[in-house]
Amino acid sequence: MGAAYVGRNVILGAGIAGISAAWHLQQRGEQSVIYEQDADWGGLCGHFVIDGFRFDRFVHFSFTPDEQMAALFERSSPLYSHVPVCYNYWHGHWLRHPAQNNLAPLPCEEKVRIIEDFVARPRKDAASISCYDEWLRVQYGDYYAEQFPFAYTRKYWGHEAHELETRWVGERMRVSSLAEVLRGAFVEQEENFYYTSHMNYPKKGGYRSILDRCREDLDIQFNKKVTAIDVKERVVYFADGSRIPYSRLFSSVPLPEMVHIVLDCPAEVQRAADQLSWTRGYQVSLGFNRPDVAKYLWFYIYDEDIPPARVYSPNLKSPDNVPTGCSSLQAEVFYANDATLPPAEEVLRITVDQLKEICDFSEEDIIVRNIHFEPYANVTFTPPIYSARETVLSWLRSLNITPIGRFGLWDYLWSHQAFQSGADALREMGMKG
Ligand SMILES: Cc1cc2nc3c(=O)[nH]c(=O)nc-3n(C[C@H](O)[C@H](O)[C@H](O)COP(=O)(O)OP(=O)(O)OC[C@H]3O[C@@H](n4cnc5c(N)ncnc54)[C@H](O)[C@@H]3O)c2cc1C
Repeated sequence: MGAAYVGRNVILGAGIAGISAAWHLQQRGEQSVIYEQDADWGGLCGHFVIDGFRFDRFVHFSFTPDEQMAALFERSSPLYSHVPVCYNYWHGHWLRHPAQNNLAPLPCEEKVRIIEDFVARPRKDAASISCYDEWLRVQYGDYYAEQFPFAYTRKYWGHEAHELETRWVGERMRVSSLAEVLRGAFVEQEENFYYTSHMNYPKKGGYRSILDRCREDLDIQFNKKVTAIDVKERVVYFADGSRIPYSRLFSSVPLPEMVHIVLDCPAEVQRAADQLSWTRGYQVSLGFNRPDVAKYLWFYIYDEDIPPARVYSPNLKSPDNVPTGCSSLQAEVFYANDATLPPAEEVLRITVDQLKEICDFSEEDIIVRNIHFEPYANVTFTPPIYSARETVLSWLRSLNITPIGRFGLWDYLWSHQAFQSGADALREMGMKG
């Protein structure tokens, strides 16, 4: 069969990156077709609905600093603007976030140990530190580092802190001054130290509604799992036996999948892909027949005998996410890609039992109970990530496949950055002429 050039833009994946690439093409007067393995659009920005309870696929708020993008999202859907007041649960205590600035509720001895070690922490330029374990000790002091972020790293990243590097941290981790720590140890603080002042969420329709305008006239083909790409023939093959020719190909398919999908992947690219690490996750979603179970927009849990790293409240994001008079929670439980996954039923049972204690609800209050698995949640910054990712991306680009999105580019992208990657991809294409 000869090469089939029909001028067709093909986009793999109907997450925010794929939608963005298609929409930006449309703005330039070009059509495209998105092929999505699921039966619905949105990817991780999507949701599912059970008996009138809507659950996003993990927490999701929008905080794009780009005013034009924010306006585009707002045109799709009016937004609530939440002040990101969130909490930390640690050994039965509730501390406002970030915990080290809000030690007031802790017993005196715990405060003393945290502050003593904070004052005695090694003095070193954090920017020069490449090991996350050392970075945490230098920023926070040993005792706090061991009790809080080390535990959270195991729960959220599925790794020990010493197994991670630091370039991903950026503004994500708050670094306190002694005055802030002391003040927060004496009195409950009102000041919000979160890295963004507001977090936006659609009033109606769940998180993905920020994309309603962009998605409107796009051609999305569902239940189309890509199983092979023949770059010589420029043909994409699907699990249902169908195939489609392409002229330009954009992909948000995770890199570890791409090395199996694209035919004739060289051994060194395969070896590089084998070095990539990521997390997978369960969403434990609960709907309640009472309006008052959810008390916090979201909170982090540091205790390692409690599976979730984080729990958030869909109904506090927007009351549109629950039937009238109800409330809901979703707990996020993560595992490293190479960890043994406990059975879903077990995770569901243990999580519900633990949350009953923490959040004060009973079996009779629960009217919806669900566990959903995501094979890709976060890319993990173990030291080989940079060179391994570069090897795989260079190979894809050499084949004229343009990677987009969080797992296509293999980066810690927020949804607005994944959206931006769709626009950037066009520029990348343009530069190729
Ligand atoms: C726990 C968690 C919390 C988050 N919270 C926030 C937040 O508060 N705010 C924020 O801005 N961002 C948040 N994010 C990040 C956000 O989810 C991502 O940046 C964004 O959704 C990535 O979009 P994407 O299109 O790149 O990837 P995806 O959403 O993964 O889309 C890729 C699509 O490709 C499809 N696909 C994969 N393989 C194939 C195949 N072989 N054939 C066909 N289709 C395929 C998938 O089904 C999927 O629909 C969070 C992420 C996680 C994990």
